[in-house]
Amino acid sequence: MERSIETKCLHLEEDEDCINHYGAISYPIYQTATYAHEGVGISTGYDYSRLQNPTREHLEKVVASLENGTDAFAFASGMAAISMLMELFKPGDHIIADSDLYGGSIRLFRNVSEKNSIKFSNIDCCRENIENFITPETKTVYIETPTNPMMNVTDIAAVSKIAKKHGLLLIVDNTFMSPYFQNPLDLGADIVVHSGTKYLGGHNDTLAGFLVTNKPDIAEKFAFLIKTTGAGLSPFDSFLILRGIKTLAVRMEKAQENALKIAEWLKLQKSVTRVIYPGLPEHQGHEIMKKQARGFGAMLTFQVESKKFALSILEKVRMIKYAESLGGVETLITYPTTQTHADVPQEIREKNGITESTLRLSVGIENAEDLIYELEKVFQETERELNV
Ligand SMILES: *Cc1c(COP(=O)(O)O)cnc(C)c1O
Repeated sequence: MERSIETKCLHLEEDEDCINHYGAISYPIYQTATYAHEGVGISTGYDYSRLQNPTREHLEKVVASLENGTDAFAFASGMAAISMLMELFKPGDHIIADSDLYGGSIRLFRNVSEKNSIKFSNIDCCRENIENFITPETKTVYIETPTNPMMNVTDIAAVSKIAKKHGLLLIVDNTFMSPYFQNPLDLGADIVVHSGTKYLGGHNDTLAGFLVTNKPDIAEKFAFLIKTTGAGLSPFDSFLILRGIKTLAVRMEKAQENALKIAEWLKLQKSVTRVIYPGLPEHQGHEIMKKQARGFGAMLTFQVESKKFALSILEKVRMIKYAESLGGVETLITYPTTQTHADVPQEIREKNGITESTLRLSVGIENAEDLIYELEKVFQETERELNV
């Protein structure tokens, strides 16, 4: 019987191997740069930690298994992973990328990849016809679903069909859903990207990034790139992500439950003009999510009546932290305009619908009533001060 994802977060098929590590239940941290050889031409399988390290390798196997991929590669951060990904392309290649992406990805594409003569078309992949943008140079389609921060949902299987028809790769940044809720490789994607800093790590305590694939030729290129550039994740950080993954299932369930409660509460507030959460039936992507994911996640974006109102919320929150990042056990509130998406040109921000009254919540695993109580207090004080 195939193991369920909750179990896969804790055990690999070959876990019995733990007896070779003195029975350690927690996978050891192999804090070593290099490895001794018994003789000429003999290797333990490890030569130098830039190439591979047992702790990193164990983590990579776990993540590959969670995403139903054959190979995963662990990098020092999500952006390190995406930077490596761009090394698959050469000058003149063209990429169709969603216009609403993580701000750091947009910055990388515009400032680094474009400098290296890789061309981009940024389109709204869930509303525009991707086929209209395909040129003879097009090599790949790059999407997030739901997107950051506007929570647009794209039908992964539908895009994959188009990509396959035209011989393009489909790359999906699956950070927002985590492998617990969504597996893009099963829907036809070729490469899955994760910022392991977020749900996989889950504790706001370390950075990591992943590339996962089920294509041997792509895996071989990533192995070469990680060895050549040294962007791999350290043994200690690999251990922290492994520890985080152990509780992925319970964290995702609890955070999602909280997110739905908060989304429903926000909808009732007179100062809230829009709540964007895929778990709400009225959301643009609700039906697609039901088809392609096992849940709706715990990220939600909302708009308040004015910029002043938004800033006041950020000033007043205490238990909920005003901080970038997402996917950790603590609830964080983010102001995309000046934080995650500050380097995205204003016209693109506006086109995507990110305004100065847009706020993003990464809902954590606190008690939902405590979270709502704090929001209630902050909203009431702000309404009083601003006379709304
Ligand atoms: C955070 C994030 C990244 C970048 O990951 P880092 O670990 O911060 O480098 C990429 N994509 C998405 C969707 C993210 O949220």
